[in-house]
Amino acid sequence: MTAFTYREGALHAEDVALARIAAEVGTPVYVYATSAMEAQYDALVGALAGLDALVCYAVKANSNLAVIRTFARRGAGADVVSEGELRRALAAGVPASKIIFSGIGKTEAEMEFALRAGIGQFNVESEPEMIALSRIATRLGLVATVALRINPDVDAGSHAKITTGRKENKFGIDLAHAADVFRRGAALPGLAVRGLAVHIGSQLLDVAPFRAAFDVVGTLARALRNGGHPIDRLDFGGGIGITYRDEPLPDLALYAAIAREAADGLGCRLVFEPGRFLVGNAGVLLTRVLYVKDGVSQRFVIVDAAMNDLIRPTLYDAYHGIDPVLAPAPGAPLDPVDVVGPVCETGDLFAAQHVLPPVAAGALLVIRSAGAYGAVMASEYNSRPLVPEVLVKGGHYAVVRPRPTYESMLGLDRMPDWLGP
Ligand SMILES: *Cc1c(COP(=O)(O)O)cnc(C)c1O
Repeated sequence: MTAFTYREGALHAEDVALARIAAEVGTPVYVYATSAMEAQYDALVGALAGLDALVCYAVKANSNLAVIRTFARRGAGADVVSEGELRRALAAGVPASKIIFSGIGKTEAEMEFALRAGIGQFNVESEPEMIALSRIATRLGLVATVALRINPDVDAGSHAKITTGRKENKFGIDLAHAADVFRRGAALPGLAVRGLAVHIGSQLLDVAPFRAAFDVVGTLARALRNGGHPIDRLDFGGGIGITYRDEPLPDLALYAAIAREAADGLGCRLVFEPGRFLVGNAGVLLTRVLYVKDGVSQRFVIVDAAMNDLIRPTLYDAYHGIDPVLAPAPGAPLDPVDVVGPVCETGDLFAAQHVLPPVAAGALLVIRSAGAYGAVMASEYNSRPLVPEVLVKGGHYAVVRPRPTYESMLGLDRMPDWLGP
């Protein structure tokens, strides 16, 4: 199912013409389709039916409050990696008890805020972090429920910058030390060390690495149980991939079966932390062609979106489909072009030698699969105001983050007194 379809020759998001959004909100702009997010969430929850499972949306993939609330309304919890994300999850209406705090570098202030908010689980990634959490919880007279994040030394087989479960990566506690760290944590005041967690990377298309990682967690959980430790939760992380070009998707039923097998007989609650899977294909970056420029050896289509709005192509060499908003005439020639943004960097390139029908200045294009790790990674580089976001539901749309004005952008800076007013 896709929420972005051509109707009478014009690309729509659900029932809203993208040309209408471009005219009314301007470009570049991210457009998200509620139905696509809900369909992905329901598909995963459906596959996990029969398991005691909680899906905690990984907020870092797309942290717009309206996006988080869309999932919260369907029963999702949230996986957060900073106080800012935690505040977003709470503001969006996620119950604190369903919030998990992940990440290797939680500050004391962040831990204190999360403890006071009463979040459901801290995923702890090192012994020093565990000791700090114990100290802060004890000082506050509170108890932190903890899962230890294990580094299972499994290669997720995805891009090096989004692989997190190998022993040389900075994440998690090595398997060799995990049981000892768990035992020492169980003896610390202010902590209820109750579970194990794993997250081996992002954009996984094959279930084999999941199987390897979940099995490591299940085996360790059994050993700790046998040692008398109360383990009541296993957190299997996120990482389920999506189709950007033509990649076959991991089979959700198989994914769920692997989780069930790994946790078999433990009676644990299972936690999943999908991000990209829930939002990636629910969003497009809508952009307008500024110029078509014929270079010596190729044609450049220069658009008004840039790497500061969507950095994935240059950061991860990521592929994103690009299509015209107006359906091409039947039989229109298809020619390779470089789709580039205006930023003064050679890396400001959305696609090299991408096949497109003829487009002219003023035409609208969509850069697809941009719902995850798009707007959240946007910057103001080249002093381009942060890209706005629109959420569509049926025949309605709402601007869920407006485009900042130039005044508000410049107004963030301050002049030191020695430079005058
Ligand atoms: C990034 C991250 C996720 C989400 O990853 P996706 O690939 O977007 O599903 C989940 N858990 C943790 C700990 C993460 O760092």
